[in-house]
Formats: sequence, structure tokens, C-alpha cells
Amino acid sequence: RLSSRNALVTGSTSGIGLAIARALAAEGANVTINGFGDADAIERERAGIEKDFGVKCRYSGANMMVGAEITAMIYEAEEAFGTLDILVNNAGIQHVAPIDEFPDDKWEAITRINLIASFYAIKAALPGMKQRRWGRIINTSSAHALVASPFKSAYVAAKHGVTGLIKTVALEVAEHGITANAIAPGYVWTALVEKQIPDTMKARGLTEEQVKHDVLLAAQPTKEFVTVDEIAAVAVFLCSDAARQITGTTLPVDGGWTAQ
Ligand code: NAD
Repeated sequence: RLSSRNALVTGSTSGIGLAIARALAAEGANVTINGFGDADAIERERAGIEKDFGVKCRYSGANMMVGAEITAMIYEAEEAFGTLDILVNNAGIQHVAPIDEFPDDKWEAITRINLIASFYAIKAALPGMKQRRWGRIINTSSAHALVASPFKSAYVAAKHGVTGLIKTVALEVAEHGITANAIAPGYVWTALVEKQIPDTMKARGLTEEQVKHDVLLAAQPTKEFVTVDEIAAVAVFLCSDAARQITGTTLPVDGGWTAQ
């Protein structure tokens, strides 16, 4: 159980982040959720977490593009619940285009949200974790932290960067009771994957079904999408005391994709 713990999950208004926030709450942790979306829908998710699991849940609208907002989000979470013990850097976006046509603003946004935001969050969260000699830092990374695919230069570069960041953080805090790990999902059926289907259809001249089966699941030997709950279960395990010697890793949950 994580009843004495306070957690923050970035990008948790949908998809994997929401599943992780709910799974941590199910273990008894108070949670700060973050991300964009319809205000009423977010409030329903927030109140639902409190009602379903009997924990405290608060929302931060901080933009992961902006360092100062990330720092403030961490300090406010720490102040509201008294500590911040579990930080999950999950927010991420994708854009699919050949590198010579890749829009500059998209490349920079992907790098900021998928990589640089983690630096700001970790930097602000570590002093408190060090003081209390317990902490868990988890990044939702990707199989694209370990292997590349064409037309995803920004995403692949940012996720490979996360591997390096997590390794470095793990070494710096190894003697402080803090672990830092990344989970590397293969294809998980969420809005992020659904949204890249039209661009992949265009970039490769394929139909929707062809993109799903011949592009996305082609790389995934199980031929099944990973579920958000399967990712959340790994996050919960990494927060347990049993996982305290697991640090600095990028752990694939990818149906065998990166075994190839
Ligand atoms: P999603 O689109 O369902 O969720 C993304 C979340 O990030 C949302 O809550 C969104 O509001 C939030 N977000 C986006 N931009 C933000 C910003 N500027 N500031 C704050 N929040 C912002 O996507 P998902 O599939 O659940 O992705 C979550 C993570 O999982 C990402 O890091 C993604 O790279 C990673 N991932 C996803 C898959 C997959 O197949 N879905 C595979 C590997 C890795």
C-alpha cells in the first residue's frame, strides 16, 4: 500500500497518465493530476478519484512547455499534501513527419514536453525527497527510447534523452533512498496513438487498417496493443519497497517489440 505517499502525475487527464494516477490512488496515495482538456471532464476525473479510492486528489493546469509553471506545480503539490514522494513524468505529445518537412515548432514542443519538462520537475522534487530519504521518479518513456522508427525524429530523440536523464538521476540519488526509472511502452491504445493515424496514412500512403496492423502492430510481436492498466501496474510496482534496487532502467512493456 502507498497510503502514506503523495504523488504527482503529469499529463494525467487522459490515457496512460490517468490510469497511473488512478492506480496510485487505488493503493492509497494522494494524487495531483495535471494536463489539458475540458474543465468539467477534468473535475469529474478529479472528484471520481477521491470518491472511488477515498484519497485526496487535486488538479494543476501547469503547462509542461513552461519551466516556471512546472516548478510552481511541484512546490504547490508539496505544500498542499505536505510531501511529494512519487513523481511520474508522463505528459507527452507526438508528431509524425519526415525530418526535412518537420515543423520547427512541433520539434521544439515535443522536446520540451517529452524531455525538458522532466528536468524541471525532477529538479524541484528532489530536495524534498532527499530530505525524507525516500522517493520514486518514474518517466513514461517509450519503446522509442530504445529503438527508432522513421518520421518520428523529435519523439525518438526526446525519448532517448529521457533514458540518459533517468540514468544520470539514478546515479546522483542512489544513496538517498530514491529510485529513477522509465517505463517503455510499445503501442498503447490511447488518444496519442489514435491521433497519429491520419498523418501516418498520409506519410506512407496507407489506409487506417493498414496503419494499425501493418505499421503499428507490425512492430509488436504479440499483435496486441498494450493496455493503460498494464503500464499503471508497472508504475505501482516501481513504487513498492520490493523495487528499491531497480534504478536507472528503461523497462520495456512492449509485447516483445524491442527484443527484435
Ligand atoms: P494522451 O494524449 O492520452 O495523454 C497525454 C497527456 O498529456 C494528456 O493528459 C494531455 O493533456 C497532457 N499534455 C499534453 N501536452 C501538455 C502540456 N503542454 N502540459 C501539460 N500536459 C500536457 O497520450 P498517452 O498515450 O496516454 O501518452 C502518455 C505518455 O505515454 C506520453 O509520454 C507518451 O509519449 C507515452 N507513450 C505512449 C504510447 C502509446 O502508444 N500511447 C507508447 C509509448 C509511450
